[in-house]
Amino acid sequence: SYRGIVLALGASGCLGGLVLVAVDGDLIPVQAFTSTDPGEGKKKLVVLGTGWGGMSFLKQIDTRQYDVKIISPRNYFVFTPLLPSVTNGTVEARSIAEPVRRMLSSVDFYESECVNIDAVNKKLLCRDASNVRVKGKEDFEVDYDYLIVAVGAMSNTFGTEGVKEYCHFLKELEDAEKIRESVVDCFETACLPHLSDEERKRMLSFVIVGGGPTGVEFAAELYDLVSEDLASLYPSVKDLVTVTVIQSGDHILNTFDHRISKFAEEKFQRDGVTVKTNCRVLKVNEKDVLVKEKATGQEVHVPFGMAVWSTGIGTRPVLTKFMKTIGQTDRRVLATDEWLRDDIAYLFEKADIDKSGTLEIEEFQRTMEKARERYPQLEVYLQRQKFRHVVDMVKISPGDAKEKAMHLNVDEFKKSLAQVDKQLKLFPATAQVAAQQGAYLAACFNALPKKDYKPEGPERIRGEGRHRFRQFQYRHMGQFAPLGSEQCGAELPGDWVSIGRSTQWLWYSVYASKQVSWRTRALVLFDWTKRLFFGRDSSRM
Ligand code: FAD
Repeated sequence: SYRGIVLALGASGCLGGLVLVAVDGDLIPVQAFTSTDPGEGKKKLVVLGTGWGGMSFLKQIDTRQYDVKIISPRNYFVFTPLLPSVTNGTVEARSIAEPVRRMLSSVDFYESECVNIDAVNKKLLCRDASNVRVKGKEDFEVDYDYLIVAVGAMSNTFGTEGVKEYCHFLKELEDAEKIRESVVDCFETACLPHLSDEERKRMLSFVIVGGGPTGVEFAAELYDLVSEDLASLYPSVKDLVTVTVIQSGDHILNTFDHRISKFAEEKFQRDGVTVKTNCRVLKVNEKDVLVKEKATGQEVHVPFGMAVWSTGIGTRPVLTKFMKTIGQTDRRVLATDEWLRDDIAYLFEKADIDKSGTLEIEEFQRTMEKARERYPQLEVYLQRQKFRHVVDMVKISPGDAKEKAMHLNVDEFKKSLAQVDKQLKLFPATAQVAAQQGAYLAACFNALPKKDYKPEGPERIRGEGRHRFRQFQYRHMGQFAPLGSEQCGAELPGDWVSIGRSTQWLWYSVYASKQVSWRTRALVLFDWTKRLFFGRDSSRM
């Protein structure tokens, strides 16, 4: 019943990435089908979230065709790749935020959080997310015909005790501002006259849990702040500063090319940034993290004045609740199909399993078992009426199997399982993916009226069954790993790897060009220049 109604983007759907439209090359402009009367026959399209996925969609959707509403607790878009630069004041927080109302003037925006998705009645329960509320009127409902879920993800503590209480996260703009304030606070406190040397030392111990791109970039920014600015401002305590990165894997930046990962480790070693690999954090206390070294099994306490937790992302509560209602209970993220819809049942329609061809039941059962192991929610789809015969086949005991060769289109069936496999693979959790997904969906929606008008006509994509659109295809445009001291690693399209100072200049130019407005571009360029001449501002506001 949800088919074609709920669509998920970026981190919400596939733990979502910065660049181009990967769509339907032959989409035809739809202006000819646009109603002249605003509101007349327009479908209600609601977008949850004003991050990479949501804004990319909104910038390209044709608002003359849809009655578009945006719901998000954040009335601005944040350029997340520059968040680590906010933590040390290289860039100011407001320089990387652009108000939604400035970016999109012709759509309704409600500053609120969606707390429940009722996909059966197509209703959303929303809650005023501001500090200024009308008592008794905090909650309200919004109807939709199409819902775009682009709520992103949240920091994941993996249930580790003490993380929420004592660690900082680096996910939102406020997190970055709090970290900036906290670093300076640690330095000021360490200078108080009544502290012991040990207390001073702990105060200036900075621990980063997670050696992924965010953790490493933050460690690099912190090192730059301390060595380039704070060391001269706090000469009496500068030698007490330690920066430690705790990583559960063998290497930091392990999703990058091994040359970048090695370069980062060597640079950190030269800079005196300690990298503890193969270590798992068991618990966080007010003053230290308890770490278990995998090789020796030893448990050690690593003291900190400030700790940042950056180990990965998890699902937002509203999505967890929604996933339960559609049977995706065991998943970390909402599964979508290649068209970014939440329903994979249609894949089995393609299988046409009881019409032609034969398949040994044992082989079939083995295939099904494998698929079920990999995708626990497959069972839910199979339980649906349409696939009862599939469930029945799975249930046949192996003893009976030899006699009962089933009739089904083996190739088609295998193809559909392979598609389930492909579509459930997670995309990287990057702005790049989210932005491409948003652009893809907007192009599909813009072309929808035309496709609906002539569903069987030449618009139909050949070889893709009854679907009117090409599937979403992610195009990887490379990734950067800024490593501090004007050094950067980059994986570029075509398997090129580039490391060093010139790559840092490439990073500057790419991120300046990717800014969402001329205003933020000018502000970011101004901040970079300001830092070059005057250093970073260490006031604690
Ligand atoms: P988000 O951009 O997180 O947007 C989610 C939106 O949903 C927000 O507006 C939020 O307020 C809203 N929302 C949340 N809950 C609700 C609700 N209940 N109802 C309605 N709205 C809701 N990616 C790169 O490609 N390159 C990088 O260099 C890079 N650097 C990064 C650095 C940092 C520090 C971080 C944290 C991330 C970085 N990323 C980078 C990853 C990138 O930011 C994410 O992959 C991307 O933001 C995902 O986009 P999204 O639209 O899915 O979610």
